[in-house]
Amino acid sequence: MKTNYKVLVSDPLGNGGLSILKKEPRIGVDVKTGLGESELKEIVAKYDAIVVRSSTHLTKEIIQKAKRLKVIGRAGVGVDNVDLEAATKQGVIVMNTPEGNTISTSEHTMSLLLALARNIPQAHAHVREGEWKRSKFIGTELHGKVLGVIGFGRIGREVAMRANAFGMRVLAYDPFIAKENLRQLGVEFTDLDSLLKAADFVTLHVPLTDATQNMINEKILRIMKRGVSIINCARGGLVDEEALYQAIKSGHVRGAALDVFEKEPPGKNALLQLDQVIATPHLGAATQEAQESVGISVAQQVIDALLERGIRNAVNLPSLDFETMRLLKPWLTLAERIGSMHAQLFGGSFRKVSIRYGGEVTSFNLAPLTLAVVKGLLTPICGETVNYVNAPALARERGIVVNESKTTQAEEFTTFISVQVTMDHQKNLIVGTLFGNQDPRVVRINEFFLDATPKGFVLVIHNEDKPGVVGGVGTILGKNKVNIAEMTLGRVTKGKKTFAMTVINTDQTVPAKVLKELKAFRPIIDAKVIKF
Ligand code: NAD
Repeated sequence: MKTNYKVLVSDPLGNGGLSILKKEPRIGVDVKTGLGESELKEIVAKYDAIVVRSSTHLTKEIIQKAKRLKVIGRAGVGVDNVDLEAATKQGVIVMNTPEGNTISTSEHTMSLLLALARNIPQAHAHVREGEWKRSKFIGTELHGKVLGVIGFGRIGREVAMRANAFGMRVLAYDPFIAKENLRQLGVEFTDLDSLLKAADFVTLHVPLTDATQNMINEKILRIMKRGVSIINCARGGLVDEEALYQAIKSGHVRGAALDVFEKEPPGKNALLQLDQVIATPHLGAATQEAQESVGISVAQQVIDALLERGIRNAVNLPSLDFETMRLLKPWLTLAERIGSMHAQLFGGSFRKVSIRYGGEVTSFNLAPLTLAVVKGLLTPICGETVNYVNAPALARERGIVVNESKTTQAEEFTTFISVQVTMDHQKNLIVGTLFGNQDPRVVRINEFFLDATPKGFVLVIHNEDKPGVVGGVGTILGKNKVNIAEMTLGRVTKGKKTFAMTVINTDQTVPAKVLKELKAFRPIIDAKVIKF
């Protein structure tokens, strides 16, 4: 039978997904797994869609040869095996399946929680060695204990429900979600400190972002209750492994169950030498059901996209024609960076995002730009699972209202995107424009007018405007080998005092200890490092 579209499945997909693809009469499917780059290059030109898991690497060279390609479907979340830029440039939609892993990962978290509480792996090894010293393995009940859930998204919520069924008291910390509709889950929302002080078990369900990297560090571990156990079924990199090792050695932490590691496989990781640590090789989503579920989702999504029924879970935004995309691209970058800057500078629980477009930019379709602002705002919080398609739903879920308006009149700038974000107790404004129709610039942060490049590593300093501040900052950065690439400054007088906002692009990131030194420098009120 003649088919309209050809789909290549280049990694094992599971029968559910495959049969959905094969049942669609307008689609012809080839399953060819384990191909190398040169073999793929030879055959890609025939296909309208490619379905991958994590093994196939779709490089720029392969994508450039794929002249008919419209869709790349990734069964799973991370898309680091796909050259997104090359795909976007060529108008290829890249989509992932962020939802299929939730139940499996929450069940794995529960397995680890129980295994930790009752020393199951250690006891199992003991019996296999022919021993029977039962008193060595006295465990602890979960009933009546406090579980601290850090990150209350898809998986955190499922874990909380299961822990409730075990009679645990569940405390949750997630500053970025609207709590109102979640109270019925029987969870107490707290600040991080209260959670750490009360929890007998702490489980992590946040994405790995700049803000969450090493969030379980020496300082945080010290706040935790003595005898706490820690479960990480989210991402390696959330836990400072050396600090955890020391905390277990000292007896402050009773034990840890780790499904993920900073480096995977972890090799000779010191944590694995400790009896109190149990480990699994990133098995959170490794169930038949989850594998089936992501396979089914990706198959349905690819069919819907090819047959133009709609696009779900796109991680890029190429559904504009090439010329529009070329003109819109710098504005999309600017919009996303303004959103990201809001999240990184001001954080917190966002309530309302008001986006105003002014001047020339209003001649474009503004919907993708609004999406880009929201995506930028949520990505530092939610990580890689945010995409252009789910950004509005994620915003709604968090109780964030987004509104958009436009003016054709020029204001302070002839053309601009202005984003005001309202939080519980404050409002912040960032305005950006393009220089030479190409280069994103941030030209206003709250009352400060400046000319900052939102690119690479950026240090943002709020200070009292006094002689010597710039020199002092330069000296601290210089002696710590952080090179200044660009600098801009805006000033405002309030009463008898003048304040400044200084934005510095640096060639390297500013390490935490240097940031601390800067914050201790008297005229500085606050300093933050952000990254684009
Ligand atoms: P999600 O996006 O639904 O939820 C993450 C939650 O973390 C969000 O509600 C967000 O508001 C919150 N958050 C972000 N930064 C925070 C911070 N600093 N403090 C507190 N909360 C914060 O994601 P999910 O699907 O529930 O996945 C959670 C984690 O599990 C991710 O890291 C994901 O990569 C990982 N994961 C692991 C496996 C595995 O095989 N082990 C499988 C699937 C997912």
